[in-house]
Amino acid sequence: MKIAILTSGGDSAGMNAVVRSIVKAGILKGCEMYVVREGYEGLVQGNVGAAEAEGERVNETAEASVEAQARDDTLLQQVGSRPDQNLLHNLRFGDGELLKDGTTEFVGGRTLKGRYIVRVGWDDVRGWFSQGGTLIGTARSMTFKTIEGRTAAAHNLIKEGINALVVCGGDGSLTGADVFRREWPDLLKRLQKESLISEEQYAKHAHLKIVGLVGSIDNDMCLTDLTIGAPTALQRICEAIDNVNTTAYSHSRAFVIEVMGRDCGWLALMAGVAGGADFIFIPERPPTADSWEDEMCAQIHKHREIGKRKTIVIVAEGAHDKNLNPIHSDHVKKVLSERLGLDTRVTTLGHTQRGGRPAALDRILPTLQGVEAVDALLESTPDTPSYMIGLHENKVVRVPLMEAVALTRSVATAVKAKDFDKALDLRGAEFKEALEGFHAISEYHDESVKLPKEKRMRVGIIHMGAPAGGMNAATRTAVRYCARQGHVPLAIHNGFRGLLDDNVDELSWLGVDAWMNRGGSELGTNRALPSIDLGGVASKFQAYGLDSLLLIGGFEGFTALLQLEEGRKHYPAFHIPMAHIPATISNNVPMTEYSLGSDTSLNALVDACDAIKQSASASRNRVFVVETQGGKCGFIAALGGLAVGASLVYTPEDGITLDTLRRDVRFLKTRYSLDPAGKAEGRIVIRNEASSKVYTTDMITKMLQEEGGSLFDARSASLGHTLQGGIPTPMDRARAARLSLKCMAFLEQHHDKLSHLKFKNRHAPPESAAVITVQTSSVNMVPVQEMVQHADMVNRRGKVAWWTGAKDLEEQLVGKPQFLGIH
Ligand code: ATP
Repeated sequence: MKIAILTSGGDSAGMNAVVRSIVKAGILKGCEMYVVREGYEGLVQGNVGAAEAEGERVNETAEASVEAQARDDTLLQQVGSRPDQNLLHNLRFGDGELLKDGTTEFVGGRTLKGRYIVRVGWDDVRGWFSQGGTLIGTARSMTFKTIEGRTAAAHNLIKEGINALVVCGGDGSLTGADVFRREWPDLLKRLQKESLISEEQYAKHAHLKIVGLVGSIDNDMCLTDLTIGAPTALQRICEAIDNVNTTAYSHSRAFVIEVMGRDCGWLALMAGVAGGADFIFIPERPPTADSWEDEMCAQIHKHREIGKRKTIVIVAEGAHDKNLNPIHSDHVKKVLSERLGLDTRVTTLGHTQRGGRPAALDRILPTLQGVEAVDALLESTPDTPSYMIGLHENKVVRVPLMEAVALTRSVATAVKAKDFDKALDLRGAEFKEALEGFHAISEYHDESVKLPKEKRMRVGIIHMGAPAGGMNAATRTAVRYCARQGHVPLAIHNGFRGLLDDNVDELSWLGVDAWMNRGGSELGTNRALPSIDLGGVASKFQAYGLDSLLLIGGFEGFTALLQLEEGRKHYPAFHIPMAHIPATISNNVPMTEYSLGSDTSLNALVDACDAIKQSASASRNRVFVVETQGGKCGFIAALGGLAVGASLVYTPEDGITLDTLRRDVRFLKTRYSLDPAGKAEGRIVIRNEASSKVYTTDMITKMLQEEGGSLFDARSASLGHTLQGGIPTPMDRARAARLSLKCMAFLEQHHDKLSHLKFKNRHAPPESAAVITVQTSSVNMVPVQEMVQHADMVNRRGKVAWWTGAKDLEEQLVGKPQFLGIH
């Protein structure tokens, strides 16, 4: 198959990762890969004078490849490798060199002007991960919207012999893709009638295979939880809000922050949740009061009255009131200044939201989705619909492209018809949940909305184990929720030791205001388990009158919950509902695919590796062995490897043997032998700290130094605790808020069932001590006793790890089996 990829519509971070992944996955499956520059416009323009250019290119490539091959053969003989011939061919054949200077007219004697459809090889997409935007260009093409334009586009594809197309863009681009595929038979007839294609071409190109990926910062597409670029845009917004927060606090100011989102309020909503905003305006749910000014002022006035020094209001670009009159940031500012007398400033984030280096998720997800896209194309038949590759919770899924586009369009229609309930329904359950959550934690409620006294709880909140990004956000959410419901949130400082030392106090709505973006653990955390003095812990539970417990932490948190549940046999004080939110950078809690902090640490790893790679590429032929934390769980190493394009990844699950090392050295030697002369690259090896007791990071580095000879040298870097610290990512903060609210609802539900029973007669069922888990496409509370069956208690990790495939995939995408000739 000959597959072409284009990026279209507004650019978004992660588009380059899509192109990289598709090019590599396609080559591995034996396809010829092309990129189309400048979106649909490039498809319409095609390759002017392509015939001569093609001839010239083939000659040049042939000459170059004879030379290169001779050199390769000698080196490969020395290394002792016989790489796969297809890969070797693809290594040399690409014209990607042309892409490097963008639209430069002359590169290496060949003209790029007039050539929009470019064959790419294996190494042409190297290093694309860390770059924002799209390196192959994007455009909005009016010509492609006309039948003439699409006919020309079809002709250009056929001339190049391309029979499959991948489109990465927003709903407009994907609509264009679907129109193109549906019209394809008619376009062919037109071309045949005008004698522009031969009978043979007509027969050979009877069907065009198309697959879409959603590249859009707005996260506005239905049937997928996350679009490519949205996590990065959210990161940019939250960085700005975090910065504004400090100055707002200093001057006791109000800030109105305008974010992108013409039809979709996802960015504004999530920024509101993750940034701890006071009020948001989104298109799908305008304020319900007749006067939004009154509604907003009442809310903010309450916040100021209880002592809040800063005010953050987020306005989505497409915000409007319930009669669809636009709400502009300047007007919001005027209202806050005039009615509340607040010193108010407007910050419009504009295009900064689009730019910058992609976040870890915008490298990992596009990579996984790109591989799925190639599979979808290879499996496609004339009868299958065009698919869009989406994401449902943690699962890459194929959904019918047109259905997704139609549903997305219907949100805008519902908003225009002022049917906001329908608009929210169409956005999906998670969006609705986030909005309800935002209101629950951002608003200050008076007594009237609180629960009746008998339903209120005293909730103990405790952090366990090592700090992880999102612990404070989860605590803030729980405290705010408690304040709304009338519960009493009790902070247990410094874990179970702190409890035994009576280091307990009540938290307040205002006291936790600034916790959303704080790293580390505000409560203090350590690894001591309740077993240090189970009886003492029980008596403290009783002394503080705890009605429920929220544990936030890693494997220790899970183990602590297990001990408390088992302790119920002896201590009635433990017969209360207890919930655990996994929060650990190691992501080693069984049965959950993501724990709080794992996204933050992946981003810390990506940032560090980007910097290291830059230094490595400055000295060209250097391998960096990067050591990560993670205990006996290889999650960060494996997913981090996928996010930075590591050449090798070592995890405790797979371990390291002499055979592995021998093979890996040969792989690196092969790879460096095949780098074009004078153009060697820096490469990254990631090693989890507990991968082997013998083959340490230092030992592997020295071994690579020795074995690399004249081909490469090696250095090491240990990331250590940098992975635990830092400001939590918006994804971790938003996830913290979501999981925390679900846990609070769980505690309330079980408390309701138990509260009417006398202390001594209370018998909490095992399912009332549970861990909140993210499993493929759902969030579940799993009883801790059930979790034990899935836990490897010795190695402190789950028995099954969902991410082991990530390591294999990374090995595939660096071509390890093919370069070694062992696939
Ligand atoms: P963003 O979310 O950033 O706006 P988008 O993909 O929705 O991205 P659009 O400008 O709507 O951006 O569409 C991009 C391109 O897709 C258009 O310039 C046009 O070439 C093509 N396109 C959009 N709609 C159609 C259509 N109905 N028929 C054919 N082509 C279309």
